[in-house]
Amino acid sequence: MNYRVDSPIAEEFIHDGEILDTIAYAQAHKNDKNLIEEILNKAANYKGISHREAAVLLECDEPQLLEKIFALAKEIKQRLYGNRIVMFAPLYLSNYCVNGCVYCPYKAKNKTIGRKKLSQQEIEKEVIALQDMGHKRLALETGEHPTHSPIEYVLESINTIYNIHHKNGAIRRVNVNIAATTVENYSKLKNAGIGTYILFQETYNKENYQKLHPTGPKSDYAYHTEAMDRAMEGGIDDVGIGVLFGLNTYRYDFIGMMMHAEHLEARYGVGPHTISVPRICPADDVDTKEYPNSISDELFKRIVAVTRIAVPYTGIIVSTRESAASRQDVLEVGVSQLSGGSRTTVGGYAEEQTEDTSQFDISDQRTLDQIVEWLFDLGHIPSFCTACYRMGRTGDRFMALAKSGQIGNCCAPNALITLREYLSDYATPETKKKGEAIIAREIEKIPNERIRDKAKKNLQEIIEGKRDFRF
Ligand code: SF4
Repeated sequence: MNYRVDSPIAEEFIHDGEILDTIAYAQAHKNDKNLIEEILNKAANYKGISHREAAVLLECDEPQLLEKIFALAKEIKQRLYGNRIVMFAPLYLSNYCVNGCVYCPYKAKNKTIGRKKLSQQEIEKEVIALQDMGHKRLALETGEHPTHSPIEYVLESINTIYNIHHKNGAIRRVNVNIAATTVENYSKLKNAGIGTYILFQETYNKENYQKLHPTGPKSDYAYHTEAMDRAMEGGIDDVGIGVLFGLNTYRYDFIGMMMHAEHLEARYGVGPHTISVPRICPADDVDTKEYPNSISDELFKRIVAVTRIAVPYTGIIVSTRESAASRQDVLEVGVSQLSGGSRTTVGGYAEEQTEDTSQFDISDQRTLDQIVEWLFDLGHIPSFCTACYRMGRTGDRFMALAKSGQIGNCCAPNALITLREYLSDYATPETKKKGEAIIAREIEKIPNERIRDKAKKNLQEIIEGKRDFRF
């Protein structure tokens, strides 16, 4: 098989030989200062770089060049998305699973974890608890199970979630992270009004993938790797990719992830809407010591920075798997979305769970309000914006705005407007005070006079009790 970026076949667009050649090329050029400078100059146009170029940057360990890489990543994030950080929370619907993923506590053969599936009434309670925290954007998570979580259950749950309006609360965007499925089911998800369809590849290395996924439908490498193609064919044009760093060597998976992004661009004209960068972390029945490829904080930061440089338009997501300290580090080099106040237990928002049903241990255990205040202190604007998908800015329409940097004209006012809603409805007095000062300062920085005036009007209307404005 040859490498073909626009092939529909997994092993052609994620081509093992091309990845190995790229690793060799990057290692051979890791000290090539001229080449690295050349790549950085090219990347400074905010148009992205190839997987080979990204691999060279990732190998770089020369302190001065590394500082340049970090600075450029920060600049690109700032230029394209401004200082807003979009907030979301995961919602676990069910942890029944038929797969055998070695690193996941949901695996069918794990008999020590408590199993639970939420009823629609329980989902309602979870959503009210999430709305009362201030969340507007969720990522639905569920194990793969033909009877416990068929597509009908997922669709019913999405419908339930969108229809709950508690006080001023509303979930305005539901992203979905469920197992690889058929074109027909992706169409159904699209019609149910989902935001992004998220599916992590876990690892792009086929041999390792098969060892890590010995049983269940997920053991089919090609079916899993081609899932985003089927999602696109089913009409979903915002897809989110990611690997679980630590399962395999980070070089291989990083390059695979870049090639996947290039594949989606080449074949559909739309790269990944988001890229997630989880690292393997402790959980029930999972001992991280068994994963010699787990990555250091320093390497993690480099991966985030080079991802931002290589795929400038994408949203980069970091979850509460990461500690506050490591989240702070990567916020500086390009992360644009964070979860906050997360519970990874099934039913954990409405009630403290007596039995552990969680997929992983949470490292950042702070409340959403604490994270909002912390983001203020770091100079970021927490945003509860969901405007793009609701305004039909998805797929290639979104990409055109993101690539040209025009999306910032929407992100900035939307961040301030949705933050104003948060401050009015959910913030503690201390957070509210800080947030109001930040809004007063940031609103004046909106360059376009018409947008600025309209945003000011909306801010006042929110104080007077109205909700849900957007650009
Ligand atoms: S304007 Fe669009 S890209 Fe910007 S935060 Fe809102 S939904 Fe995201």
